[in-house]
Amino acid sequence: MDAKLKEFLVSKWSEIEEETVSLLQKLIQIDTQNLQEEGTETDAVRLLESYFNEAGVDYEVVEPKPGRGNIVARIRGDGSSGKGALMLSSHLDTVKAPKENWEAEGWKHSPYGGIIDEEDGCLYGRGAIDMKHMAAMSVVLLCFVNKHDIVLSRDLIFAGVADEERTDSKWGAKYLVENRPELIEADIIFNEVGGFTMSLQGTQVLVMQIAEKGSMQVKITARGPGGHGSLYHKTNPIATMGQVAHVLQANRLRLRINQANVATINSMAACLPFPKSYFFRYLLSPTFSDYLVDNMIPPLLQASLVPLLHNTANPTSIRGGGGQHNQIPTSAWLMIDSRYLPECSHQDAVDDIKAVIGPQRFEETVVNGEKQEPELMLEVLAYRDAQCLDVNDHVYKDTLAVISKVVGDYTDGAPVCPTLIPGGTDSYQYSKHPTLTPICLGFTPVKFKLDTKFSDLFHGTNERVPIDGLKWGVKVLAEVVHTLCESKLS
Ligand SMILES: [Zn+2]
Repeated sequence: MDAKLKEFLVSKWSEIEEETVSLLQKLIQIDTQNLQEEGTETDAVRLLESYFNEAGVDYEVVEPKPGRGNIVARIRGDGSSGKGALMLSSHLDTVKAPKENWEAEGWKHSPYGGIIDEEDGCLYGRGAIDMKHMAAMSVVLLCFVNKHDIVLSRDLIFAGVADEERTDSKWGAKYLVENRPELIEADIIFNEVGGFTMSLQGTQVLVMQIAEKGSMQVKITARGPGGHGSLYHKTNPIATMGQVAHVLQANRLRLRINQANVATINSMAACLPFPKSYFFRYLLSPTFSDYLVDNMIPPLLQASLVPLLHNTANPTSIRGGGGQHNQIPTSAWLMIDSRYLPECSHQDAVDDIKAVIGPQRFEETVVNGEKQEPELMLEVLAYRDAQCLDVNDHVYKDTLAVISKVVGDYTDGAPVCPTLIPGGTDSYQYSKHPTLTPICLGFTPVKFKLDTKFSDLFHGTNERVPIDGLKWGVKVLAEVVHTLCESKLS
């Protein structure tokens, strides 16, 4: 980064940090729970508008439905780099949190108080880490650029979007991609999930999303003759569904190797000391993977590692019968939350599920010349494909190098681990942009204590962000942004 600008930023760090904390407190105090069809993101947009107005940053508000506001701000670069824009994205909605009975539900502070706990130094509230902290850091950085006449060599965009937590971003990123793609045209997008320091078997690393799994809702139905509850029945659809659920629970779907999980496992292995580093790579071996997972990997790590290596199928409910206790139902069904890897289609995931349950059970049979219905029927109710950037792309490699350098400087050399995440984010929507394929990275930097289980904080009770870690994050983000934008003081 330009030396003069760095010196200037260092002289202003405390101002930038305090403004970030203050804006995040205000954002948390605005309730933007996503209630599926209803939402109040526009209230948060109004607050951000006041910041942009004061700093003279150009922006546009897009509100496709009352209450579901999006705001896109842009600072024009001088174009000297010839590169496309860098965009910082943050969804403004949150998952639910109790409004009145928050104490009864185990919250230490009100989820909408924006309160800093003196004891643990954390700012509490819904959205603190998912992901209003990114909106606060980004808006403060954009306003700072304008207030101090910093010149960028490429455009810098901030997108504060609605509706990420429900309905597939219909009123947020998806709407912008389909209806206002010119507003969010960017070469690089920083979005969730990642930029967080964590412990990998005792080593400090920074995880950064480069890929996310696809998701699929599956319904498996079993039928039977039904009948009276007092009689002997050879088949019972409820029992069949219980058996199918058990089989799915007891067996992993087949190992699948792809660009994203090879990159993830190799980058994790590189962070580990020998001989762990050596054995960790064998997670990708069809011969040794299962053995390693079952015998060498602690349960906590298994929970997040297995989804990197396999498509998954978790039973989430069994239904059937009319609720009458003396009646065997004629049908029952099992709902499954299935997640599938990049380079897989949803049909591949269906095949994996059938392979574990027994493919023949989904096929018609002929008994005594008569066609018999299959024992089980599988329907895909909805699906959304996985997404992965090209790890050989030079824009990605250059960006990773910049992030690694800055993170290393700010952590005594913690390595950056590009990772596949099992959930879904707006990066999927941005990857569908009609004219550009942006490099989407999960990079919303925050430094956590090594023993933090930050996955618990997402959507959890007592969502919070450490103030020190947030202040660390805004400095890291500023340095990365200004290096990528080749920024200078005018
Ligand atoms: Zn989120």
